[in-house]
Amino acid sequence: MFVSINPANGLELARYETHSAAGVDQALDQAVAAQKEWRRQKLTVRSATLRRVASVLRLKKEDLARLITQEMGKPIVEAEGEIEKCAWTCEFYAEHAPRFLCDEIVPSNATESRVVFDPLGVVLAVMPWNYPFWQFFRFFAPAMAAGNGAVLKHASNVPGCALAIENVLKEAGVPTGLSRSLLVESSRVAALIADPRIAAVTLTGSTPVGAAVAAEAGKHLKKQVLELGGTDPFIVLADADIELAAQVGARARFQNVGQSCIAAKRFIVDESVADTFVAALTKQVAALKVGDPMDRSTQIGPIARADLRDGLHKQVEQSLSEGAAVLLGGKAIDGPGAFYAPTLLDHVKSDMTACREEIFGPVAPIVRVRDTDTAIAVANDTEYGLGAALWTRDIARAHVLSHEIEAGAVFINGMVASDARIPFGGIKKSGYGRELGEFGIREFTNIKTVWVG
Ligand code: NAP
Repeated sequence: MFVSINPANGLELARYETHSAAGVDQALDQAVAAQKEWRRQKLTVRSATLRRVASVLRLKKEDLARLITQEMGKPIVEAEGEIEKCAWTCEFYAEHAPRFLCDEIVPSNATESRVVFDPLGVVLAVMPWNYPFWQFFRFFAPAMAAGNGAVLKHASNVPGCALAIENVLKEAGVPTGLSRSLLVESSRVAALIADPRIAAVTLTGSTPVGAAVAAEAGKHLKKQVLELGGTDPFIVLADADIELAAQVGARARFQNVGQSCIAAKRFIVDESVADTFVAALTKQVAALKVGDPMDRSTQIGPIARADLRDGLHKQVEQSLSEGAAVLLGGKAIDGPGAFYAPTLLDHVKSDMTACREEIFGPVAPIVRVRDTDTAIAVANDTEYGLGAALWTRDIARAHVLSHEIEAGAVFINGMVASDARIPFGGIKKSGYGRELGEFGIREFTNIKTVWVG
């Protein structure tokens, strides 16, 4: 049984029966049968289906956004933005998949040699709660365009979203069973990975869970894409536009109530401009409106679950005991909801909890550094490598530095963001493989050589 709790007030929203073993079995059979047909569909048909998915998402945007906000607490305006982004991504792949998947002729000593992109089959998608629609659709839109099917095991606190996704696909006329949402506990994921009907696995989630899923998939030699945790640096060099960096930095850290894998999780600031930057960031953060996530003016709602809020507070307390200084917040907000006050921690060092561990909530640690070389060294002093932001007016130098930063993406004078047009993914313990763009659509394809003598 999955119980959905509204983190804004702690009240139960609904209960959902888990799928029985027989239910799972039937869903896998259905997915395999549907995918066998789907892989033979012309790309024009797949694209038209994706366009219908986009239309249904837009048509139901308000209801779906409300469900997201109720189940995991993000501000309603951001939830609407999430649905819109899913729709746009479906349209992006509807338009570009035919080009991305078109055969490539390769000159060789054959009469003809070409590379074709065949689907792999049914992909198991294990997904987190933080962007309950986006995380799924950024995997599924390209995977489906490439001819794959999917079974989704969503996070336990968003079962309503999991079922709503299945309904959107059904309403859009996606073939029955091609994508199924399974309400199963995480203890049942290993058996799904082992099942011969599953061809590959994608996981978006934390690094320890990534390691567990990768080990299972490795045991069965199944292809994996892992989108894991991060402690993205937001580097502010001495010549940066400080005011703008603080404005964008506040958004980069506090979007989705700080619960984003690519949020700015460590502000690494040249000490010559640190006081000015900290003052500007403090002004931005103090102005954030905390409150009911259903209110359109709210910028900070609750953390998705009370236990996560408590874990976050422990990390803050630990960092304070290690020598960090609290400038704002640093405590839970009283009441029935899982709210946490927007928090700024100054004088954080690389070896403190706030830098070593991923901080998944509205807490911004600031590390002051002596120069650019130290900034880059501190940025890389982490086991993660998802994204990084670099602020400087010297773009030529920024390009050089971007090669020194150990991350899957470097955003110069901007905040790290996912975008259907460009690849997304990490290195080090942030995972491997790429989603989105042309690289993303190829992850779940068999890149097949066809050679004619
Ligand atoms: P999580 O605890 O790792 O859970 C992710 C998914 O894995 C959930 O569906 C969860 O199911 C399942 N799971 C948990 N333990 C498992 C196990 N032993 N075997 C198989 N599956 C298991 O992560 P989360 O708390 O939902 O999400 C936050 C994390 O995701 C953060 O670390 C964040 O950085 C990361 N994230 C990364 C990206 C990226 O693109 N790199 C994007 C978003 C989030 P249950 O809910 O049933 O436990």
